[in-house]
Amino acid sequence: MGSPRVLRRAVELRTECDAARARGLRVGFVPTMGALHRGHLDLVRSAGSRASFVVASIFVNPTQFGPNEDLARYPRDLEGDIAKLSSVGTDVVFAPEASEIYPESGDTRVRVSSLADPLCGARRPGHFEGVATVVTKLFGIVGPCMSVFGRKDYQQLLVIRRLVRDLFLPVEVVGHPIVREPDGLAMSSRNAYLSADERARALAIVRGLQEASVQFAMGERDARRLELAARALLETAALSIDYVEVRDAETLALVTRANERALLAVACRVGTTRLIDNVVLGEEPGPLSR
Ligand code: AMP
Repeated sequence: MGSPRVLRRAVELRTECDAARARGLRVGFVPTMGALHRGHLDLVRSAGSRASFVVASIFVNPTQFGPNEDLARYPRDLEGDIAKLSSVGTDVVFAPEASEIYPESGDTRVRVSSLADPLCGARRPGHFEGVATVVTKLFGIVGPCMSVFGRKDYQQLLVIRRLVRDLFLPVEVVGHPIVREPDGLAMSSRNAYLSADERARALAIVRGLQEASVQFAMGERDARRLELAARALLETAALSIDYVEVRDAETLALVTRANERALLAVACRVGTTRLIDNVVLGEEPGPLSR
């Protein structure tokens, strides 16, 4: 497959996407923060199977990081990322500087309420405002397209679906299943931070989600008991828990019973690394049951 064109300027990307649409092509767009792994590449392949002109962006978005988070040390490997993207068929890589996306004169922010409030929104103030703002800007540059987002960031996917709907953006949002390592750990650019010992302890996240999934399959519907089942395994590995919560998979409202589609979402710290994972009970088997 040919090497993708690498563009730095918003106006260049807009011109390329307009030209592709004028040729009758359908634009598929995958926004990322780089340090790409097989999960990201699966999203790009999925975009390529639905669209005929594939754009991936690589932008470590400063506005979605809190003041004490890992913006400065977030892994960056543009050359490696471009090579990986070229192996899965990417027409354009958009890799702007922060000043291109956030010019000094710009202070527009996009805020999605309710869906952005619980879970990661409660623990990372401003995070989803940063995500919603950058994704809206990127959609504005790319124009009409389909865009693939991973279900690993389940709350983010819901926030983006909502903003697309509320702002009448010409984008079809497609959710992609969580891509896991052979032992079940959800792939993440942040897994690179883990020591061998932390990597082994992080597997408790998968075991916790699996245990709750098994209990759900055996008929347990009490949301708090399902949370406790997952929590017990995280505690065994001495992970520092941000949250373990069962919520409605559409609205993210707290539920007392996990009927039909219920999201079990986990965030915890292994050492200094924050990891998230989830399973939609009643829709997918546990992460180790595939
Ligand atoms: P990031 O680079 O972490 O911002 O992620 C870019 C996109 O890749 C987002 O839509 C993520 O949800 C998605 N993604 C990251 N890791 C995974 C994974 N393990 N499985 C599926 N999608 C993923």
